[in-house]
Amino acid sequence: MAQTTALQKAWEAKGSPPCDHPHTEKEYASGMQTGDVVCTTCGAEFWRSKK
Ligand SMILES: [Zn+2]
Repeated sequence: MAQTTALQKAWEAKGSPPCDHPHTEKEYASGMQTGDVVCTTCGAEFWRSKK
């Protein structure tokens, strides 16, 4: 979660340009999957089961 926040802040520092979220990874918290995925570019979080 801390990592996600850092990513989001860095993205905001760039002016929050539009992101297509080309690269996402499973999010982990304390070594356990949270069930979410996070964009490694802008730090946005998604639910994995996206329809
Ligand atoms: Zn993104």
